[in-house]
Formats: sequence, structure tokens, C-alpha cells
Amino acid sequence: MDAATRQMQFVFQLRSAGVRDARVLSAMEDIPRDAFMEGIFQDRAYEDVALPIACGQTISAPSVVGLMTQALDVMPRSKVLEIGTGSGYQAAVLAHLGRRVYTLERHKQLSKTASAAFNALGLNNIVALHKDGTEGLPEQAPFDRILVTAAADDVPSPLIGQLAEGGALVMPVGSPDQTQKLIKVIKTPDGLEYKEFQDVRFVPLVEGIGAPSDA
Ligand code: SAH
Repeated sequence: MDAATRQMQFVFQLRSAGVRDARVLSAMEDIPRDAFMEGIFQDRAYEDVALPIACGQTISAPSVVGLMTQALDVMPRSKVLEIGTGSGYQAAVLAHLGRRVYTLERHKQLSKTASAAFNALGLNNIVALHKDGTEGLPEQAPFDRILVTAAADDVPSPLIGQLAEGGALVMPVGSPDQTQKLIKVIKTPDGLEYKEFQDVRFVPLVEGIGAPSDA
């Protein structure tokens, strides 16, 4: 299959999954997903499936990245925090839409590999840090948008605290070994508003940074 046909199919898959936001579609067309994968799986980068990456983690399926990004509604001026860098693909898509992205990862190896991919693509508005995302990043708060790409029963409360007024957080909530609900929390002057989106399946949000043995 030639590159143009592959690209057309990629966008078609995203649209059929419900990704309709033109800015999100164009960001995903521009960011090469294969640059965030290694080895044999690179050939499958444009299929709509989650695939294994290092440290026993996964790169989410493109349709899930698209739907989460669409739900987050990133604005050109948005300062964004992502928890769970993984491959770095989602952070790259966010960086295409917002002003600056901070992305936190508990596995040092993943954080390093993702940073190298950002550099290679000239994405210089992403800061990748090896940190426990459950604590957020108080020194850079408040954030206009927060995206958590790992599942937990509840939204970690430091993240709500670090959300700007008018800001929004999107996260898969539910038991890590079952399907979770994608939720959106909006901070309004009158308190928090909640919305629910589709079912998703994510790896668990784990407290603490990875031990040297699991890098
Ligand atoms: N957004 C990623 C996919 C995320 S997979 C992508 O585009 O590829 C979820 C990631 O969250 C994993 O890499 C996992 O190590 C990380 N993670 C889990 N708990 C974490 C925590 N407390 N802080 C930071 N990262 C965490």
C-alpha cells in the first residue's frame, strides 16, 4: 500500500470511530505514529490497534487517542499536562494543538525514548519528565488541560487542584482490569462538572516511579 492510501485509510478509521474535530484529524495526519514505535510493530503503526511498547506498556489505538484528544478540546493557548507519556505519541498530538505540553512518565526508559522522538521530529514545545504523575506537576500549575492516559478508580486529587478555572481534565476511570469510562471534569467558578464518554481500556495508573529494575 502506498503512503497516500495508507494515510487516507488512517483518517477514515478515525472518522468512523467518531473523531470529527478537524484540528484533531489534521494533527493526527501530521504526526507519524511509526516514529513512536520500535521493531516489528512499526509496520502496523497505521492500523487502529493498541500495540506493545517497552516496559510492558502499550501505545493506545489511534481512535482512542483521537477520541480522548477531541474530548479534551485543546486550544492554541492551552498549557497541557499529560500523565503517562508511554511512547510519546499522544503528547505529540497534544503539542500540535496546544501551546506547551508537560508529560510525566514513571518509567525512565520510556521518558527518554519519547524525548528522543520529540527531538527527532523537532517538537520543541514538549517537556518530558520522569516523575510520578499522581502528584501532578505543582511547579508548573495551573494547567488549562490535563489528560491522564492510565486508569484508576478515582481522579488523583492533586490533579484537580492543579487545574485552572475553566480548565478540563480527561481520564479513564474504573477498575484497571476491566473496561473503564472516559470521563471529563470541568472546573467552573461554581464547582466541578462531570461528563461521561465511551468505554475504554487502559493500563493502570501506578503510584511511585519505576524501580531501577523495571526502568
Ligand atoms: N499516552 C501513551 C500511552 C499510555 S500507556 C502513548 O501515547 O503511548 C500508560 C502509561 O502511563 C505507561 O507508560 C505507564 O508507565 C504510565 N504510568 C502509569 N502510572 C503512572 C504514574 N503514576 N505516573 C506517570 N506515568 C504513569
